[in-house]
Amino acid sequence: MDNKGVNFYVEAGKRSMEWHGRYLEQMRKCRFDTIAVHGVYSMQEALDFNQGSLIEPMYMSTSQGYHNSDEMEAALGYMIPTWCYSRIANPSMYYYEGVLALLEGYGSGLETSCLATASGMAAIQSAVDPFLVEDPKRPGAKMNFVATCQVYGGTFQQFAIRKEKERNIEWRKVTNSNDISDWESKIDENTRFIYGEMPSNPSQAFFDLEKVVALAHKYNLPVIIDSTVATPALFRPLEYGADIVVQSVTKSLATSGFSICGAVISRKNIVSNIDNDAMKADFCQYLKLLPNRDNGPNISPMNAILALNDIRTIRTRMDLVSSSTQKVAEFLESHKAIEQVDYLGLPSHELHELASKYMYLVDSEHDPRYGKKVNRFGHLMSFRIKGGAKPTRQVFDAFERIYRATDLGRIKSVATIPAISTHSQQGEEGRKLANIPDNLIRLCVGGEHPDDIIRDLDQSLQTLEGKKVFFTSPEFSAGGASSAKLQ
Ligand SMILES: *Cc1c(COP(=O)(O)O)cnc(C)c1O
Repeated sequence: MDNKGVNFYVEAGKRSMEWHGRYLEQMRKCRFDTIAVHGVYSMQEALDFNQGSLIEPMYMSTSQGYHNSDEMEAALGYMIPTWCYSRIANPSMYYYEGVLALLEGYGSGLETSCLATASGMAAIQSAVDPFLVEDPKRPGAKMNFVATCQVYGGTFQQFAIRKEKERNIEWRKVTNSNDISDWESKIDENTRFIYGEMPSNPSQAFFDLEKVVALAHKYNLPVIIDSTVATPALFRPLEYGADIVVQSVTKSLATSGFSICGAVISRKNIVSNIDNDAMKADFCQYLKLLPNRDNGPNISPMNAILALNDIRTIRTRMDLVSSSTQKVAEFLESHKAIEQVDYLGLPSHELHELASKYMYLVDSEHDPRYGKKVNRFGHLMSFRIKGGAKPTRQVFDAFERIYRATDLGRIKSVATIPAISTHSQQGEEGRKLANIPDNLIRLCVGGEHPDDIIRDLDQSLQTLEGKKVFFTSPEFSAGGASSAKLQ
């Protein structure tokens, strides 16, 4: 028996981690697009270990085999780099985590780590739950967290039902997130974390992150930001002092729409009033090796690789869709049937100036097309139709290019009426808090030419005057029967 001892594997593991550290240093010197394209998958890894495969391999295996008991002992004791079992880690997942950690930390000089999750909601739960533990110095005290009320519908439910109703943890809602005193008045000794979504889905709430971070850190509280709508191509909250970022990678990051997936990205040494040094030192690593190992909300290797392929082009894609959305928003703003357009890119939006401080196309100053920093505001916007719910549904039902779907971030334009879909469960009161009236349509402009999206909006709005110009044959608009006919 070739028994080399546990130490042999530990030493080999150290060498491999040192090499990996040097590789990461090299990657950190690259520009955003290069990182997005290559991530942590090196040519050496491709040639020496993966048959030269240019694209990161999809490791469809539940677990990893070991040479002998020594290697197994070192691996399961977390003494060497290992992936063990795909509920904890997997090489494909590792490539996904590696690139997202680098992109979210881009330009900040920070060391970051990432935890892959099966969905954006799992990312949010993974990020907030470790803080919701009782303080031994205050047994029985009711915990709370301070979070904006303008959040994604799923987040609203997770906070209002899973935390508040089921676990008696108070959600202190910040109704005007742009007013720093609204945040401060809600913090006390039982507060565990500060949470915000920016820009918010769909109402485009936005706040001065640096001020909120300064406030939170004064009280020794971590700041968690959902930055799904912006993506790291337009905004990286860690750079401004946030401790943790959550992403629904399902959306713009993985634009082709193959799968649901999420991520938590954290800086090292986060701020928290919880007495847990391992958690604070490397939050994502801690989540991965302990709570998420036990809870199991992991991503599948296939979804990780599918998403990875989309992430490579995130910068140029966000540039394109942001410019198109700007054009569409300007068209809608000038239309007489529209009551209001909410898009941070419009100078008329009250938060335009503030958002312009934070949201710009990464590396635009190094892009020969621009040569300077240019603001970009993403592809999510909303607009309100004059006259209430009825005409709103009429316009919505007349779309022929824009899909009616509760989705966003797609390469194809999609729209929804949040009051009857994504935000229906939270009820009238919750919608009022989140600023979501029933005449609001959320639109996410895709990669089509913006003129064609404007054409679809224009013909849909014309139905309000009794006009209907069909792009497609009206015989096919009858629902189920028409699909059967086409087959
Ligand atoms: C969709 C979405 C989520 C939830 O992500 P899933 O991947 O659908 O679980 C969270 N936050 C925002 C802003 C979202 O748009």
